[in-house]
Amino acid sequence: MAKQDLILLAMNSSPTLDLMARVLQASEFETAIANDHQALTKSAHEAIPALMIVEEKFDNKDGFAVAVDILERFPTMPIIMYSESGDPELALNALKNGLSGCLQPPLKTDDIVNEVQRTLNRARKLGDWVRREVRRTTASLEQKAKISEAERVKLEAIISNIQDGVIVLDENHRILLANKTVYGIFRLDGSSILGQYVKDVIPNADLKALIDRTRNGSLKYHEINFDDGRVYNAQYTPLPRIGSAVTMQDISYLKEIDRLKNDFVHTVSHDLRSPLTAIMGYMELIERTGALNESQRDFLERLQASVQHMTSLVNELLDLGRLESGFDTRRESVHLDNVLEYSLNVFESQIQNKRIQLTTSVSDDLLPLRANPIRIRQMIDNLVGNAIKYTPENGTIKVHLFMQENQIIFRVTDSGPGIPQEEQGKIFEKFFRASNRPADVEGSGLGLAIVKSIVESHQGRVWVESTVGVGSTFAVILPTHE
Ligand code: ADP
Repeated sequence: MAKQDLILLAMNSSPTLDLMARVLQASEFETAIANDHQALTKSAHEAIPALMIVEEKFDNKDGFAVAVDILERFPTMPIIMYSESGDPELALNALKNGLSGCLQPPLKTDDIVNEVQRTLNRARKLGDWVRREVRRTTASLEQKAKISEAERVKLEAIISNIQDGVIVLDENHRILLANKTVYGIFRLDGSSILGQYVKDVIPNADLKALIDRTRNGSLKYHEINFDDGRVYNAQYTPLPRIGSAVTMQDISYLKEIDRLKNDFVHTVSHDLRSPLTAIMGYMELIERTGALNESQRDFLERLQASVQHMTSLVNELLDLGRLESGFDTRRESVHLDNVLEYSLNVFESQIQNKRIQLTTSVSDDLLPLRANPIRIRQMIDNLVGNAIKYTPENGTIKVHLFMQENQIIFRVTDSGPGIPQEEQGKIFEKFFRASNRPADVEGSGLGLAIVKSIVESHQGRVWVESTVGVGSTFAVILPTHE
């Protein structure tokens, strides 16, 4: 037999209470009676009734207050208010207080049973619905948890097995994650480095420089060099609400290829210099051996121009080789405004010939640089020379030199043809020449590569901002103390 529903009657002893108990028992309900507040609380806790009937004036207390108190502890408990008074407002009050129904005299057997049955049915439906919803939500949460756990395991497996080193840091630069490759790269013993400050467990100057300089956004990637010749390219990525990630790829083999290529270019350029000098010398001698006719003179002049072009190319390649191999260690106090002045003096006639309007602005708080004056002059000559070379007649060039937080900024802005956006990333590579350069402008494509090497050997940065058809700005930042 199905378990009977227990109805708790919280009523004062009276014939009505007896009647209700009898009627309910006759309708197959189990009943329990609580005559005072204490008995009510005990039964509500221990017997857990399916429904309660509370009398409006119960144990000398306000029945509504008693009911509200029970509802606070058992919010889904169906409660029916019974009142002797026959107050017409009772039903409304019961609803307002969150009760499920009410009973008033004259009490008929059917009224009692129907009201109890109706209230129980409603409570059951509500209970079923709540259980269904809870089951549904739990199932969906379980499903989601399963998916995200599977994703986490997958991600962890990928990160720990990839060939690149991956370190994830929190906002205070404590290590949240470091994969196996990182332990190998920095030759760490197997003990865990999680939770520790990166500078304490990986004392590598290049890594430290990358992390420190990313704070002000000035650096996003950096090479990490090891004494045994290994080189890694490290990239820094900020991770919102986590901190940051540093990934490292082994580029030792690329560096080796680059070194071999540079050695080759350097050797070839070096070996070409002597025959070129000889050719130049003999060409000068030809003129002294006897009179030349007009064609011979014309051919000789063309030969001389070509050999001069080759010689300057070879010199530029040798220069670049010297800069890249780090031989440029000469450092002395250099006043950039003076160097700029000398450079502009030399270009004066070219500027006038092309009727270029030149404006110069040099701030008077410039600090001196620790630099190689010859290289700095070469850098300025290349940038100003390019601006003049690529700017058409009657164009404009603006040169700015100013301080910004202990750094000197040098900017050359021209109204030349500009450089296509997609080519701007390659502009500092050796031999690269932009596709939109004017056909009659000669060049080797080495000038900007030399500028970049010079700037970097002085711990600075160079970049271009350019719009095709409007012009270009080449900007250089140089720290005033290394
Ligand atoms: P080049 O000897 O060809 O001038 P550079 O290395 O100095 O070699 O410059 C590389 C290329 O960059 C040039 O060929 C040209 O296409 C482009 N470039 C350099 N400076 C400018 C400029 N001021 N305006 C437009 N294009 C420029």
